[in-house]
Amino acid sequence: MTRFIDLHLHTTCSDGISTPKELLSQVRHSGVGAFSVTDHDTLVGYHAIKEMLEPNDPELIPGIELSALVADKDLHLLAYCFDPLHEPLLERIDDFQQKRNIRGQQIVERLQSLGLKISFDSVEKLADGAVIGRPHIARAMYESGCISSYEEAFYKYIGNDKPAYVHKAKITAREAIKLVHDAGGVAVMAHPYILQMVSHIEDLAADGLDGIEVYYPTHSNQEISYLNNIADRFNLLVTGGSDFHGRPGKDSAIGSQSVPIELLEKIKVCAQTIRGNN
Ligand code: AMP
Ligand code: ZN
Ligand code: FE
Ligand code: FE
Repeated sequence: MTRFIDLHLHTTCSDGISTPKELLSQVRHSGVGAFSVTDHDTLVGYHAIKEMLEPNDPELIPGIELSALVADKDLHLLAYCFDPLHEPLLERIDDFQQKRNIRGQQIVERLQSLGLKISFDSVEKLADGAVIGRPHIARAMYESGCISSYEEAFYKYIGNDKPAYVHKAKITAREAIKLVHDAGGVAVMAHPYILQMVSHIEDLAADGLDGIEVYYPTHSNQEISYLNNIADRFNLLVTGGSDFHGRPGKDSAIGSQSVPIELLEKIKVCAQTIRGNN
């Protein structure tokens, strides 16, 4: 059995570049022993890959990366080992998807009122059924010639606090944690440093947070050891992954964080305890 896992991967069903089929093939070549597809606010990629699995494939762990709020700040909440058919979770995700669509339309309307020639149709076409996010809008803007680089979309128009930015519907961290627990899964804070969430770990642990993502491409050794200490102190699970989006030259490879497979056993035990308490 392979010793490493990767619990943070994206597909074209959210903002990744690899289709579910391509991701599965990349995972097969990466040599990881288990993996989780954690698309933003959707389980479509997870279900697609589950359908394609063959007997000798690495183990697929149910996963998702939920957009949540804590103290008015963005929190990415990873969930693992939940029941992927849990009705209240699916309803919530559906609702999210509809609201993201509406928000995408609002962003496009703002861009149009700023004089840019871009249509929501082109964004939808590009998203090809995926949950619509700003990366799709940025790509549509680039392809329609409104801007000369993908990044320009963010620093001029759709970055946080820029003129065409519209907030995304989010649930509170507490709500999201409860939703995940009700579905029998564990709730994990994604990349605590990227969203400046380290100072919120203690409060969230009191609200039921089960773990933190310690192994992550941008984390320094010092940050990793600091997070490991916090996990110890608050009795939190330790997880990790590459946050692979398939972008050439930008993303760490699948399995690059050398997350030990032993951590997965602890995650599973925690999920079992949660289910036992439901
Ligand atoms: P959304 O979930 O629709 O708000 O989109 C968030 C995604 O947009 C992030 O995961 C990034 O991929 C991308 N993004 C946000 N801000 C920037 C930025 N300043 N430059 C490039 N990409 C960004
Ligand atoms: Zn993403
Ligand atoms: Fe994230
Ligand atoms: Fe992610």
